[in-house]
Amino acid sequence: MTTNPIYLDAAASMPINPQVSEAMIECLRSDEFIGNPSSANILGQKAMQAIDLARQQLADLVGTNASNIIWTSGATESNNLAIIGAARFRSNRGRHLITMKTEHKAVSGAFDYLEKEGFEVTRLMPDETGLLHIDDLTAAIKSETQLISIMHVNNETGVVQNINEIGKLCRELDVLFHTDAAQSVGKLPLNLERLPVDLLSVSAHKMYGPQGIGALYIRKAAGCGVIPLFHGGEQEKWIRPGTLPVHQIVGFGLAAEIATSSMKSDIKLMQKLYQRMWNGIKNNSGIVVNGSTESYFPGILNVSLPGIDGDSLMLMLEPICVARGSACNSKFHEASHVLKSLGLSDHLAQSAIRFSFNRNTQFNEIDFAIKKYNKAVNFLRKILPDGL
Ligand SMILES: *Cc1c(COP(=O)(O)O)cnc(C)c1O
Repeated sequence: MTTNPIYLDAAASMPINPQVSEAMIECLRSDEFIGNPSSANILGQKAMQAIDLARQQLADLVGTNASNIIWTSGATESNNLAIIGAARFRSNRGRHLITMKTEHKAVSGAFDYLEKEGFEVTRLMPDETGLLHIDDLTAAIKSETQLISIMHVNNETGVVQNINEIGKLCRELDVLFHTDAAQSVGKLPLNLERLPVDLLSVSAHKMYGPQGIGALYIRKAAGCGVIPLFHGGEQEKWIRPGTLPVHQIVGFGLAAEIATSSMKSDIKLMQKLYQRMWNGIKNNSGIVVNGSTESYFPGILNVSLPGIDGDSLMLMLEPICVARGSACNSKFHEASHVLKSLGLSDHLAQSAIRFSFNRNTQFNEIDFAIKKYNKAVNFLRKILPDGL
């Protein structure tokens, strides 16, 4: 029996692609990339060329022009910049904003902050499968509504929202639409030329790139502006000042290029891994999949079992690395706000385990996880036959 960690927590962070880390190390080692990309000298220009290439690689992945991409430190910053920046930019036109209860904390936290600044925020509930109903959104929109933020793929459940439908509605009503696409860019096809999205957040480490680098897509169109969060430099068109981290961006760009070519086979692999995992554990009585089983990304499988304590279960699954909810909630041992929004009782939400897969996940790792999970469930049910 192996004691090496088995990584089934890709939704929290993905293993960096070896080609990507090689390119980053090369960039750090090379005398060619010692310059500041903002400098006008030849070494500054050399660094900027590498950044321009990466911008093009990411732009190609999401089907847009490179000039619409701004580098940030990750999706947390992109979400804050998009939501706070756009709300402030349009605040004279109205101060009502709409989001969902199931968003990542990097989105809900930005809205909590704006509420303190005097904005009014509506937080819509999904149905019991985690999906937003367009009628609920339509009903919530008022004449003062300026910005709507609904995530693409949910990081806890894998539920995929219909961002095309939501974006169309927003465009009809001249409301800005932001989507947190940290879990979907590089994993599901996205074409921003056709998709009615104004602002879109990306994170490199959710797509086999390095941690600490992300991007914000800003559609260049009338009324789609953001007020910067940082001040003091002209980088990224004054929207996000600060010296650009060349090696991080080079790695991100390459990860985007690799994603463009391997997305189709990646999706097929995720479907196989998901099916194998689910088939292996579905016979535990009472087990439920959390979130839609129709509109979902197969890289994430979140399940609950009545009568089982998630903390104990997670301990017994070691050395398999899984998550209880999102990485951000897991330290507090509280039931996930996302799962509770789907109508799960505290009790059922407590038992949730998220398995998430990546390109390197092996079938024998899944089989090992299945065995461990089933064994742990049987054990916990034996010592606590009446549940909790
Ligand atoms: C990981 C994640 C984030 C945060 O991204 P960072 O790059 O780690 O800041 C935001 N939203 C979602 C949906 C995520 O999965």
